[in-house]
Amino acid sequence: MKKVSLAIRDFALPVPRKGSIDALSGYGRASAIGQETHQIIQSKRAQEHDNYEAEVAITHEFERGGFIFEVSGRMDGLFSGKTPKIEEIKTTFSVWELHRRLRDAPNQHPYCLQLQTYGYLYWLQNKVMPKLSFHLVSTRKTEEEDLDIRLDLGVYEAWLDLRLNELVEEAQHAEKRAAKRRKNAEAFTFPFEKPRTGQIELIQTIDEGMSEHRRMLIQAPTGLGKTVGVLFPALREALSRGQRVIYVTPKNSQHSVAEDAVVKLQETGAKIRSLTVTAKSKICFKNEPLCNPEYCEFAKDHYTKVAEHKIMEQLSKKRKLSARTFEKIGKEFEVCPFELQLDAAQDVETVICDYNYVFAPRSAFGRLTESGLDQDGKPNLVIDEAHNLPARAMDYHSPALSSVVLERMREDLVNIPSRFQSDASELIDECIQVVLNRKPKDSDKPSKIETTAAAFQEQDTKLRTFLSQYLEADTDIQPRDVVLRLCFYWSEFTAALEFACDRERTEFFITFHPHHTGGTIKITCCDASEMLKECYDDFEQVVGFSATLKPFEFYSRLAGLETPELKTAEFSSPFPAAHRKLLIIPQISSKYSDRQRNYPRIAETIQKISALKPGNYFAFFPSFEFLERTLEQFSAPPGFMVLRQERGMRNDDVQAVLEHLRAAEKTHSSFCRSRWGFLRRGRLPGQYDHRRVCDWSPSTEF
Ligand code: SF4
Repeated sequence: MKKVSLAIRDFALPVPRKGSIDALSGYGRASAIGQETHQIIQSKRAQEHDNYEAEVAITHEFERGGFIFEVSGRMDGLFSGKTPKIEEIKTTFSVWELHRRLRDAPNQHPYCLQLQTYGYLYWLQNKVMPKLSFHLVSTRKTEEEDLDIRLDLGVYEAWLDLRLNELVEEAQHAEKRAAKRRKNAEAFTFPFEKPRTGQIELIQTIDEGMSEHRRMLIQAPTGLGKTVGVLFPALREALSRGQRVIYVTPKNSQHSVAEDAVVKLQETGAKIRSLTVTAKSKICFKNEPLCNPEYCEFAKDHYTKVAEHKIMEQLSKKRKLSARTFEKIGKEFEVCPFELQLDAAQDVETVICDYNYVFAPRSAFGRLTESGLDQDGKPNLVIDEAHNLPARAMDYHSPALSSVVLERMREDLVNIPSRFQSDASELIDECIQVVLNRKPKDSDKPSKIETTAAAFQEQDTKLRTFLSQYLEADTDIQPRDVVLRLCFYWSEFTAALEFACDRERTEFFITFHPHHTGGTIKITCCDASEMLKECYDDFEQVVGFSATLKPFEFYSRLAGLETPELKTAEFSSPFPAAHRKLLIIPQISSKYSDRQRNYPRIAETIQKISALKPGNYFAFFPSFEFLERTLEQFSAPPGFMVLRQERGMRNDDVQAVLEHLRAAEKTHSSFCRSRWGFLRRGRLPGQYDHRRVCDWSPSTEF
């Protein structure tokens, strides 16, 4: 019989699923802060009670439908004795609200089912019925509350019967899915009859690295066909284990390159499905992504509606799952499109998403890397444009909190109901004071400071309490609501500060930057490699690739991939060197200190080169400032149209530029921002490699 191992957290779920999306639904995972509170309470209990034991492991095997379901978990605490007591600790922002939810649904709420499962397994193994109790603690440990629940064997076993039947269905589905993937791997063929020069070597290199189970960094130039050249072997290896690939990009605009590669594989017969994860802020139907049933009708009864309408079955019939699919279904059944994406990701062979879902702290991705029956190992991870990863990861952990920004929020208070304005203004005063209290007394210059998170946490609690009242008052939330902005701004910083203080590591330092009207406190993470390393553990094979990954020692260290086993490889451009013209003009320096006086000469050079031959020309600049100042001096040659990249261009604007380039018969001078300045004559419209235009700026989020 096949064995399926399950954590009690994943086992103890209502059948059918019921409930809404919110922090107290019981479907989420414990946060690191919750775990820390657990440990504090457990050690207090151990000091006070001789009969107390923390983290008591318990396992049991259930047989059903030809499968063995091995259910295991750890009880937070067990008080032994004549009548033993099992205690579960739950950390929550609102102790009273969670207390109410658990009391009102003792046989439905996932937390109650978890505790009852511990009780039931204990009873099966010891023939003694234990007492069951929740110990609820507020996030900042200011409130604590106990709640006892009963284990009614008849009711529990009725649920257990349904749950085991459901698990058999899930296991059979997972078995079929894994078998299909393995079969697919055997017949998986490269989607082009004639691979480009270098593509075969690229695929062989990745195959070799994977067979040796080595993480990889690959440098391959544009034009080699590296996306499909990396995805193909990574996917084939994953499928051979019944697994899938998670393909991450630094920007949403790069998703289309991976999507195109998957389409190519599908067109040549690969039976694979793909899902592109769209950011919550983009796919959310509401003015603000505020996921609770009081504010959002799509969050309300989301799980109930998904089960009732068999939405996951509907999604399983589609080969390509994109934002449009989730939006359509979300609107039709009034469910959350973002949550649907995460649920559907288990069933597809390629998940394409932003770095955030794998590398950001508190990412929603955890559950997407889980594995089902008959899958060996873990999913594979492919990191596109991997040179961006170190800086992006450092940014995740380097937020700033400015009194000037807080002060500016005050101006927007006129847009919220008047009864909240004065309290909100007072809270802003307090927030500013917390920031300014960090200012070193004896310095008016930016300086390093030592601080703890305590004052920020205290203020965070006040803000959250205010936010609850604000939301409960049935306020009409408008886009960019100032109360939400204030609370998110503060809590994001507080969470990062807690993390930085907890790590007590040298990669973080905190500075205060005085300003004539206030000041800014800034956390700087100068090396996120340790955090990145932890993320790779969720994956079997890891391949990072980019056109610029050298020196490998530098990128591998900062990306947390530096191990003796790391495999690195570089490939040369497939384009004949004879087609390339490199012009170095030593008389014109673009060094920062020389730039100012050379703007006119640089503009003139671009003008002269462009005028030599009709076509599309692209001038790339290392900064917008450089681009704008040169453009001021530029006169386009006759018949040329000037296109330029704007700061913070949205995807629609980029698409409009691409359409223009494809459609128009004219010739263009395009001014773009890039990390290196260079001028290049593009291909004619129609032959144009539009992916590079989407890649204009590493820092622009489309
Ligand atoms: S629709 Fe928006 S607010 Fe509602 S649950 Fe989904 S992401 Fe949250």
